[in-house]
Amino acid sequence: MASRIGVVTGANKGIGLAIVRNLALQYPKSPLHSGSFLIYLTARSTERGSEAVKVLNSDPALKKAKVLAQDGGDTTIKFQTLDISDVASIHAFRDFLKKEHPEGIDVLVNNAGIAMDGFNDKVVKETIHTNYYGSLAATQDLLPLIRPGGRLVNVASSAGHLNKYSAALQESFLSASKTSVSACSAVMEKFIEAVKAGKEKEEGFPSAAYAVSKAGEIAFTKAIAMEAEKEGKKVLINACCPGYVNTDMSKGNGTKTVDEGAETPVLLALGEIEGKTAGFWLSEKTIEW
Ligand code: NDP
Repeated sequence: MASRIGVVTGANKGIGLAIVRNLALQYPKSPLHSGSFLIYLTARSTERGSEAVKVLNSDPALKKAKVLAQDGGDTTIKFQTLDISDVASIHAFRDFLKKEHPEGIDVLVNNAGIAMDGFNDKVVKETIHTNYYGSLAATQDLLPLIRPGGRLVNVASSAGHLNKYSAALQESFLSASKTSVSACSAVMEKFIEAVKAGKEKEEGFPSAAYAVSKAGEIAFTKAIAMEAEKEGKKVLINACCPGYVNTDMSKGNGTKTVDEGAETPVLLALGEIEGKTAGFWLSEKTIEW
C-alpha cells in the first residue's frame, strides 16, 4: 500500500500530463515525502488515459531521474476514469478511492477544463457546467478524503481575474468568495440568465464563458478554503493560473512549455508554501484577484 496518494484530473495531455510527470519528479524533495507515492492519472477517456500512463512509464526524464518504482524510485502512476462533467463518474471515483485507500489521499489537482469557441447559450452552459460545476463537484467529493497535511489545487486561469467586471460584480465575486459556495454559484447562475436575456454586458459581465467560469472557480476555491480553515481542517487549498501554455487549448500559441505551466500547480501540491491557503497564484507567487 502506497504511503502517499495523489490525483490529477484531465491528465491525459497538456498541463495535466506535465503535472503528473512533475509530481513524480518533485516528490523525493517534497515536504510531503514519506514512503511510496501513488499518482492517479485520471481522464474521461479510458483509451487516452491508459495511453498517457504508458507514455509516462517510459518518459526519458522520469527514467533518468529513477523516480518510478520500476526504476528503483518511490512513485507509481496508474490510470482511473474520471469525467468531471458527470456527477456519477465523480461519485464512482470517490467510492473507488474510499475502498482502495480508506486511510485517505494527500493531493488533488483539479486540472481538467474546457475552452470552447464562440459565445452563445450552449457554450456558456457547457463551459460553466464543466469548469465551474465539474471542478466544484470534484472538490466537494474528494476534499473530505484528503488527510491532514494534504493539498488541494484548482487550476483556474488569469482569465478569471476580476478586472474584467463592473465594480458591482467585482464586489459580488469578492463577497461570495468570503461567504459560501452557494453565493459563488449564484453569481454563475446570474451570468447564465444574463446571457439568455442578451444582457450580460449591461449587467457588468464580459461576453466570455471561459473567463467567467474561471472567476467562479477562483471564488469557490477561496470559499471552500476559508470554510476548511474555520473547521480546523489541515489541508492547504489554493487556486492558480499556470501561465499562457503551449497546449491544444491555447491552439499552440502559448509561450510556456507544459513543464513550465506545471510549475505553480506542482509547487502548490508538493512544495513549501509556508502554510498558505485560499490564495490565487501565478508564477509561484500569490497575486491579487
Ligand atoms: P488541454 O485542452 O490541452 O487539456 C485539457 C484536459 O482536460 C484534457 O486532458 C481533457 O481531456 C481534459 N478534460 C476536459 N473536459 C474534461 C472532463 N469533463 N472530465 C475530465 N477531463 C476533461 O488544456 P490545457 O492543458 O491547456 O489546460 C489544463 C488546465 O489549465 C485547464 O483547466 C485550463 O483552463 C487551464 N489553463 C490553461 C492555460 C493555457 O494557456 N493552456 C492558461 C490558463 C489556464 P480530453 O483529452 O478528453 O479532452
